[in-house]
Amino acid sequence: MSATTIEDLQAEIAALRKDIAEIRTELNFYKLDRNIQRGDENHDYYFYTDKQSAICPCCWEKDHKITPVSDHDDNGYFTCERCGYQGVYDRDKLDIIDDMQTTIFKKLFDDK
Ligand SMILES: [Zn+2]
Repeated sequence: MSATTIEDLQAEIAALRKDIAEIRTELNFYKLDRNIQRGDENHDYYFYTDKQSAICPCCWEKDHKITPVSDHDDNGYFTCERCGYQGVYDRDKLDIIDDMQTTIFKKLFDDK
């Protein structure tokens, strides 16, 4: 049996440090995750309550990244600038735009 050397101990410490770093990362994820509200029937984005901001659900689920998203084009949808994910920002707005389009089309056809 060989005696434990300084090198062995150093290697062990390095391994433990790595474990701790991984556990910290995981812990941070769970801490953060408590402040993330999932999407619902009105919108697809997740909501980060700490910062009061809408975030990309794809970036969060896949990479655990907080990427704010917004309804840039005011069309009821959002597109994530990081991963390109598209989702519904505001279901009500989509319905309103839908109704408007229907009304416009009706008018176009009724007038002729
Ligand atoms: Zn994303």
